Amino acid sequence: QQRDQREQEMAERLRGLAERVTHMEQEAQGYREHLEEQRQKALIDPLTGLPNRAAWSEHLEREMQAWQAQGGHLLVAMLDLDHFKRINDNYGHLAGDKVLKIVANELRKRLRGRDFIARFGGEEFVLLMPQSNLLSGCQQAEILRAAVEACPFHFKGERVTITLSIGVTALRDGERSDIALKRADEALYRAKHQGRNRVEQG
Ligand code: GH3
Ligand code: MG
Ligand code: MG
Repeated sequence: QQRDQREQEMAERLRGLAERVTHMEQEAQGYREHLEEQRQKALIDPLTGLPNRAAWSEHLEREMQAWQAQGGHLLVAMLDLDHFKRINDNYGHLAGDKVLKIVANELRKRLRGRDFIARFGGEEFVLLMPQSNLLSGCQQAEILRAAVEACPFHFKGERVTITLSIGVTALRDGERSDIALKRADEALYRAKHQGRNRVEQG
């Protein structure tokens, strides 16, 4: 009888423990989901909703590895809004923010399969184009440039044209991504100096 009672008590305790384990597992799952949510949020630029620079670094790393393993093409482009300071100066910072949102949307809408765009900072964006050669990458950059130029902005009842300049380059075998980005930046610089609202390749 005593043994029966002990066994019953043990069974009771086991049930209790099992319940606690289940509860703790559920709690842990909740924390994991929350953590993943926070991680995703930390990768998004809150103004434009585009991936931010941290997301860019993560994504670039992954595409670099794929490119090194499989070969093919990998292009990077730097995009910078032209005379953006004037928008802020003439129409206010809020208008500037709105322009950034709209431009980001125009760019995002036109990305192809594996293209990836991020807000690099301020009024600058970076674009990664795997699996496209320099010619098709430049054509794609041209599509983005034309789309932004055609975007109908109105401030104080006036039609305002917003443009951007783009520098595109292809990664070379064995090259580090920061070297290629610097070349894209130099191409962008040339685009600015040659009158803006244009695509240059480096
Ligand atoms: P350029 O054609 O040579 O690129 O001229 P720019 O005026 O675009 O370049 P500059 O670097 O002189 O100025 C960039 C401006 O972008 C200055 C800054 O106030 C504005 N800017 C950067 N980030 C933001 C933002 O998040 N919101 C707003 N409204 N403006 C921003
Ligand atoms: Mg800039
Ligand atoms: Mg600018």
